[in-house]
Amino acid sequence: MKEKTVLPVVVVALVGALVLTLGLWAMNASNQSVATAVEGADRSLERFEWKLVTTWPKGLPGLGTAPENFARRVNAMSGGRLTVRVYGAGEVVPPFEVFDAVSQGVAEMGHGAAYYWKGKIPASVFFTAVPFGMTAQEINGWLHYGGGLELWRELYAPFGVRPFAGGSTGVQMAGWFNRELKSAADLNGLKMRIPGLAGEVFAASGGTAVRLAGGEIYTSMQTGVIDAVEWVGPLNDRTLGLMEVAEYYYYPGWHEPGAMLEFTVNQQAFDRLPPDLQSIVEEAARATNGDMLDEFTARNNQSLTSLIDDYGTKLRPLPDDVVDVLYSNAVTALDALRQSDPMAAKIGSSYEEFLIGVRNYHEISERAYLNVRDRVLPPVSFTDSQ
Ligand code: CA
Repeated sequence: MKEKTVLPVVVVALVGALVLTLGLWAMNASNQSVATAVEGADRSLERFEWKLVTTWPKGLPGLGTAPENFARRVNAMSGGRLTVRVYGAGEVVPPFEVFDAVSQGVAEMGHGAAYYWKGKIPASVFFTAVPFGMTAQEINGWLHYGGGLELWRELYAPFGVRPFAGGSTGVQMAGWFNRELKSAADLNGLKMRIPGLAGEVFAASGGTAVRLAGGEIYTSMQTGVIDAVEWVGPLNDRTLGLMEVAEYYYYPGWHEPGAMLEFTVNQQAFDRLPPDLQSIVEEAARATNGDMLDEFTARNNQSLTSLIDDYGTKLRPLPDDVVDVLYSNAVTALDALRQSDPMAAKIGSSYEEFLIGVRNYHEISERAYLNVRDRVLPPVSFTDSQ
């Protein structure tokens, strides 16, 4: 009888303890979730509006599509908490003042090419293109898994600027010429729009290098201010109408074998973002970086075919002796750069070491595969008459 009365008491006590425990746990959990929500709510209520200034003419396909795509990705991923508005060259600042604008906080972000800042930061050329250097695939490997991006951030840190890879064009074209190049002697006296270290190489090879932004190229060719121009490749060159102002189109882009573009972010503006928005900026940049190479890979050949068939562009390979002269002067220019600037020496060593290793592996992978593919597929042919 006694046992029968004890059991319900024990059950009631156990249930009571359980309810109390669950209640305390629930209160605790509730307090935690409220605390988390309050903390999250504080930051999730913040809204950020950024300006992104570019070196490209407004709406330019290819290069100019990247910042637009980046802004669209950030706006969508952040649910509107971070909105990025894109401005073309000259809308907020002139094209070659993009870096300074980001450094000084006139704009929170920029999109352009690191080698445009060579006068201020000589080692910046490594992060766009080195003549006879790495391809797009290789430079992406170096930046993201070979220490390159850390060096880039170290290089820009004194300016309060944080760089991200901003898309690659792949191997560019050597450029448009208003006369045929039959030998290296034909470089003498040529005035060419060609930036970066390659500009120095071209000058040492007998020509004159001119730095012009994309929006200035067509008129400069048309009016004879320059005789030759390198811009990008078929997709972007056709958009600028370069086939209307020059007849000969040379390949390959010895000077820009995998031109890397850049997103630049004002470091203080980046630091003000909550961590999730910082991640969104980082991931949107990474996605846009890969996307650009996809677009150029997909569309360059179509544009090249149109240039040849619809406009009569004459496609030509660079003569071997032109390549030899350019290479010889490229070695000299690169050595001089590495000897004259401590950061260029440090970055140049990392770049060289990575190139040696990746070239070694690509010899028996990328190149070996293309060789065996060429053995079995029909030969490549172009429709222009040489
Ligand atoms: Ca170029």
